[in-house]
Amino acid sequence: MNSCTKCGNTHIIIRRKQSGQSLCKECFLASINEKVLKNIRKYKLIEKGDKVLMALSGGKDSVVALNILNSLKERNIIDLTALTIDEGIKGYREEGIKIAAKNAQKLGVDHKIVSFKDYLGLNLDDMMAKNDQIRHACTYCGVFRRWILNREAQEEEATKIATGHNLDDETQSIIMNYLEGNINNLVRIGPKTEAPDKRFTVKIKPLREIPEKEVGLYAVAAGLKVHLSGCPYAGESFRWEIGSFIKELSINHPTIMYSTLKGFEKIKTALKKEITIKGNLGVCKRCGEPAADDLCKACTFLKDWDVK
Ligand code: SF4
Ligand code: ZN
Ligand code: ZN
Repeated sequence: MNSCTKCGNTHIIIRRKQSGQSLCKECFLASINEKVLKNIRKYKLIEKGDKVLMALSGGKDSVVALNILNSLKERNIIDLTALTIDEGIKGYREEGIKIAAKNAQKLGVDHKIVSFKDYLGLNLDDMMAKNDQIRHACTYCGVFRRWILNREAQEEEATKIATGHNLDDETQSIIMNYLEGNINNLVRIGPKTEAPDKRFTVKIKPLREIPEKEVGLYAVAAGLKVHLSGCPYAGESFRWEIGSFIKELSINHPTIMYSTLKGFEKIKTALKKEITIKGNLGVCKRCGEPAADDLCKACTFLKDWDVK
């Protein structure tokens, strides 16, 4: 009978095809905690005294990341707060907010909820009703979320913004930017954002090397309550297409996401010598945030809709 490679327990919950390892619940949870904390040290994602703002949607990734980062808070290494952004997606976001709040409360982590509506004057559903379907909902959602996250991080005087990006997300970003020829964006992908401007709070991705499936298994094994529904706007985006393609490939090639990430890390070193990341940006004339042009991306969209 198959038993845990680490402790011999016969009740195993995972067989890792890529390494041949079998693990019981306790050893699996410990292996993920160790890997995440090891990466935090390796890439210097967090330093003692950091004030970390966790972008908490209530989904499995951000809830698992919050729980692991909380172990650093409990050891008085960091200060941790959580922020949930309500994009205004009817029938979907409400449940995620409740679950996010419960998780933060359970851990005793300060939690703030802000909305697109309060910040921007309209929610994502309103935007999609106004939009002539020129852009996908995720484009607006991503731009405005990053904009709000950065503003909130500045207001909270956070030194790091943590997001729940996992290995699947990171591999998708690499392939997407490569296929779209966005080489400038490609060189910025990493465990810690190399922000083009000091006025952007550094973003960190503690779960970057953990496959999505294992993040899900961690949530179940640790008994965490997470928001499982999918966003109604998620399907059919380019990211979704790439994600499905990589998942399909992973069936017969279980190490493909790791090798994509590791291969990219090697190319990135060479690419960085060729591509200079722009220095400090200008200031957006409308909102005062850093911007490459007269207006930042968020204000360019808002101006089109004539939102004050
Ligand atoms: Fe926003 Fe797209 Fe994610 Fe939905 S799937 S929450 S629209 S980024
Ligand atoms: Zn074990
Ligand atoms: Zn702006």
